[in-house]
Amino acid sequence: MTLKSFIDVHPDSHFSLQNLPYGVFKPGKEQKARIGVAIGEYVLDLSAIAGAGLFNEPLLKDSECFFQNSLNMFLALGRPAWKEARATIQRLLSGTDEPTLRDNASLRERSLFSMDQVELLLPAAIGDYTDFFSSMHHAKNCGTIFRGPENPIPVNWFHLPIAYHGRASSILLSGTDIIRPRGQSFPVGNSPPYFGPSLKLDFELEMAAIVGPGNELGKPVDIDKAEDLIFGLVLMNDWSARDIQAWEYQPLGPFLGKSFGTTISPWIVTLEALEPFACDAPKQEPHPLPYLTEKKSKNYDIALEVQIKPTGHKEGSVVTKSNFKYLYWTLPQQLVHHTSNGCNLRPGDLLGTGTISGPDRESLGCLLELTWNGQKPLSLQNGAVRKFLEDEDEVIISGCCQGNGYKVGFGTCTGRILPALL
Ligand code: CA
Repeated sequence: MTLKSFIDVHPDSHFSLQNLPYGVFKPGKEQKARIGVAIGEYVLDLSAIAGAGLFNEPLLKDSECFFQNSLNMFLALGRPAWKEARATIQRLLSGTDEPTLRDNASLRERSLFSMDQVELLLPAAIGDYTDFFSSMHHAKNCGTIFRGPENPIPVNWFHLPIAYHGRASSILLSGTDIIRPRGQSFPVGNSPPYFGPSLKLDFELEMAAIVGPGNELGKPVDIDKAEDLIFGLVLMNDWSARDIQAWEYQPLGPFLGKSFGTTISPWIVTLEALEPFACDAPKQEPHPLPYLTEKKSKNYDIALEVQIKPTGHKEGSVVTKSNFKYLYWTLPQQLVHHTSNGCNLRPGDLLGTGTISGPDRESLGCLLELTWNGQKPLSLQNGAVRKFLEDEDEVIISGCCQGNGYKVGFGTCTGRILPALL
């Protein structure tokens, strides 16, 4: 189907009429935050569309969800309401048979803002954040680096999507600077443990699911219903201090090596927009237990890329190209396992996939793997070399699905390293 908007959208734009990702924005400093969708170089203000009475389907007609400063109220409404909203927005923005917005100059002025003039905010109030470990290639490489090549992947990994509970308070919007963390790491020789700025600061290329309606405490989610609880995906950088992590992680897992900052992209791309890019998930062997067995396992073909841009460089250097489709455990399996003990998820919860590494040297999702814990430094453009991130480095993650003449993309997820505090 060829879909076209009356708004000029370049074929290379991530924000086509087929995409329509949701975010939260302020048109100006003094104005209230509200919900919008990205279209080309513009943001469509859904509170203005709702205010004009154009959401007149049953589930959205009287809702205040687009006048909020987070998407949580809309997320809680569930998939039938999300479908209503998408149909209405797509119809209003299409150029052909729908004059309502196209021919109303006053409404266009009230509802369409140039993206470079608005302030973007975190799209959801994130109450809880969990980070999975769902790439087999990443699990194998990390296991080899930290524990040696004998059995690098623990036996439980093949039976359950392993995760740790992350820190929601330090989830940051793309573009926020990251202060190099200080922390404790391995003693050298007979010295006491080191305490100071991390010497092995890393990025992790991830994506994360935003939870929709959630589930009641004590009521696990059935695998066949799990997809309906997931609203969409964002790009994520799970910044990691490898030296702090390696010293602290046994026996309880990641803590201060991770909790100093996690960056997400501002636009949530819905599962509806991603559906044309669904593909088979990798075969799971051994076969998962019945509660994790899907009728049909699927992933999405989302091309992912990471650039490092040192200070003074005009452009970033591409350091890896990976793809969401490499993940072993699927989004529904992650969500179902999370709730299998009765744990309740709530609207806006964030479920990170874990670092998305592919099978090749060129598709590894973090510097720990790319430089093999600093043993094989990476060459960037202009003669720069990196074992881990240096101060003033900017990390730029991007992600995109290529359609026939259009893209469904995530934009970028960026962050720059500032020196540690004295
Ligand atoms: Ca991670």
